[in-house]
Amino acid sequence: MRGSVLTIEKNLEETILNFIKEALDKECIEAVILPKRVPSGDSFAYLLIKDKSILEGSSPFPPVIPVQGAKAISSLTRQGSVKKKILAIMHPCEIRATIELFKLKQTNLHNLLLMSFDCPGVLPLSDYLENPDKGDKTFMEDYQKWETKNMRPVCKICTDFDAPASDLHIGQLGADEEKVFLTPLSPGGEQFINALGLSTDAPLDSWVAEIEKLKKERENSKKEAQKELKTKVKGS
Ligand code: SF4
Repeated sequence: MRGSVLTIEKNLEETILNFIKEALDKECIEAVILPKRVPSGDSFAYLLIKDKSILEGSSPFPPVIPVQGAKAISSLTRQGSVKKKILAIMHPCEIRATIELFKLKQTNLHNLLLMSFDCPGVLPLSDYLENPDKGDKTFMEDYQKWETKNMRPVCKICTDFDAPASDLHIGQLGADEEKVFLTPLSPGGEQFINALGLSTDAPLDSWVAEIEKLKKERENSKKEAQKELKTKVKGS
């Protein structure tokens, strides 16, 4: 597997936002859908953004999922395809849900580029709402260590945290310090990266190896969780 390597300048979030700005400047896309913190500061909403200045402060990797990204895509495309080329950045499970809704004709993927990322999980929404500042800090600490202890139970055993059915994927696992992988996963994704003038020749073996390792760990956690559940059900 091969892809591009981006250099992280200040932090990953800002690197991805700069990357999106460049894609808008070069007219590779005309708008982007991604989460942004609401003015009250305690939640996030999906916004369709065309104006680069509104991108400031957006959160491609939010600590919670208050609104399913697939629902946002469905609201946007239910009546028909979008006319403009749009990049949507979502958690892998939201992309899977978008594809499922597409099968039910509830979303239209024409002109949409779906971009996922190695997902560390998200916090339970109720925990986050109790104290958003504490939630932001906890999430950031856990994210940096790839720790799932505070994440939603479903995230602790999620084995599909990597590239599901997206056009593009941001891979942090296995990347050198201050680097991140950008992988094209469809002809549309490849075209997008090429239009940005990036090469897709970098080997991604270290990413594949780390993904496999983490998947094995999550599969073991899943088996443990299923065993515990069985015991509880039998015992009740
Ligand atoms: S870990 Fe899995 S279930 Fe949790 S947010 Fe990420 S993709 Fe979704």
